[in-house]
Amino acid sequence: MPDLSKPYDVLVAGGGNAALCAAITARQHGASVLLVEHAPRAMRGGNSRHTRNLRAMHEAPMDVLTESYAEEEYWDDLKRVTGGNTDEHLARMTIRASSGVFGWMKQAGVQFQPSLTGTLNLSRTNAFFLGGGKALVNAYYLTAERIGVDILYDSEVVALPMRDGVVRQVEITHKGFPATIAARCVVAACGGFQANLDWMRQYWGDAVDNFVIRGTPFNRGRLLRNLLDQKVASVGDPTQCHAVALDARAPKFDGGITTRLDSVPYSIVVNRDAERFYDEGEDVWPKRYAIWGRLIAQQPGQIAYSVCDAKSVPLFMPSVYPAVVADNLGELAEKLGLDPVKLRATVARYNQAVRPGKFDNTKLDGSATEGLDPPKTNWARSIDTPPFTGYPLRPGITFTYLGVRVSERAQVLLEDGRPAANLYASGEIMAGNILGRGYLAGFGMTIGTVFGRIAGEEAARHARN
Ligand SMILES: Cc1cc2nc3c(=O)[nH]c(=O)nc-3n(C[C@H](O)[C@H](O)[C@H](O)COP(=O)(O)OP(=O)(O)OC[C@H]3O[C@@H](n4cnc5c(N)ncnc54)[C@H](O)[C@@H]3O)c2cc1C
Repeated sequence: MPDLSKPYDVLVAGGGNAALCAAITARQHGASVLLVEHAPRAMRGGNSRHTRNLRAMHEAPMDVLTESYAEEEYWDDLKRVTGGNTDEHLARMTIRASSGVFGWMKQAGVQFQPSLTGTLNLSRTNAFFLGGGKALVNAYYLTAERIGVDILYDSEVVALPMRDGVVRQVEITHKGFPATIAARCVVAACGGFQANLDWMRQYWGDAVDNFVIRGTPFNRGRLLRNLLDQKVASVGDPTQCHAVALDARAPKFDGGITTRLDSVPYSIVVNRDAERFYDEGEDVWPKRYAIWGRLIAQQPGQIAYSVCDAKSVPLFMPSVYPAVVADNLGELAEKLGLDPVKLRATVARYNQAVRPGKFDNTKLDGSATEGLDPPKTNWARSIDTPPFTGYPLRPGITFTYLGVRVSERAQVLLEDGRPAANLYASGEIMAGNILGRGYLAGFGMTIGTVFGRIAGEEAARHARN
């Protein structure tokens, strides 16, 4: 147990990728560092432990990435997914810095998979962690401990009382008991607020009771709320969150990546009244998967069911839970808790509307329905080949967009535009500066790594002066 009576140069609030990058960097720059993680040791690492990869710019093939991924292409991708809701200066800075993270990460113990060849196009843009985010987080904790970062688990930073833009002290609860710590600088790296269901309820109402939170239950936004209440400038739409379709049998929190379901484009999706409600074939799945969480959230009871036949099952990655399977549609409906008459009627209407086309799951194939509302505009094939398969779906929340505004030096900005004197931020809590909307696979870890290192270095330098 660290000695909490001594003042630290840098206190880092959080225990995921952004916090670890900040803590290790600050220590490497000579600061005494305390990392305060809300979770107990066994659950440390936040959402970062569920991750698999990081998106990085590179000019030429490297051991962990194929071909090249230049600044302009990366920037174009970001502009597209955010609809321009980004800060070009911060974004380009992050993109450029992403090309230089590998040496530092490897030195800090992170291992990567060799770049994948073949058809998986992410091998060009995203470097995959060997052993996933859990191995990355464990490696960082080992390094942090080895170089002398003190770590306090089971401890939530609840407030950073500020006067004239200066954080005076750090108020925490440790295993539920209040304590106060002195620190010259603080790095806020404690994620979003998606696990705070009461806060989410303000925007979504009681529908949140049917949401599944894909990551840690410890990202409750306690510190974010405290900072915003003290006139720290906010960024990002508070009512928005990134939500995907998840297997409805997933646990309420922390199910991670394995509960995601990619069956939508090759199935029809019905609500609890066994009625379709959106074009399942609108676009290729990576471009469309993030709208399905919201679509399901708008359905009665926030539940939906993906239904397909034997032809489609080999085309998508199943969730970790077994599919619901039956020899006929009536039996499938009963197993899913749907009205068999209604489901059979919906499938019959859909099958009648399917027009002959050349099915091709590798592209937008134009195999569509005709005269059906809503239509299915690609990959429409009759559902007629037993056994029939179904999965229940719920909205799965990945993260929220609301955060604190920062400068390029990771300084937290106040509402009047001044930077706070000794407060920095990294990771999801400031990602909205760059990713104000939408999502670019692997960019969350890039932002946390780049800004974590900036925040750690700046905080250490400030503390020394
Ligand atoms: C299932 C899943 C898969 C994902 N896959 C990827 C991927 O492959 N690539 C990618 O780039 N992104 C991915 N993401 C997004 C990614 O997880 C985040 O962008 C990234 O982990 C954010 O890092 P962070 O350190 O800011 O937050 P987190 O890793 O969530 O860490 C926040 C930490 O703060 C702690 N904490 C919270 N409140 C407090 C407090 N008040 N006091 C002290 N500690 C506190 C938490 O316990 C936690 O340790 C995925 C997300 C999920 C849910």
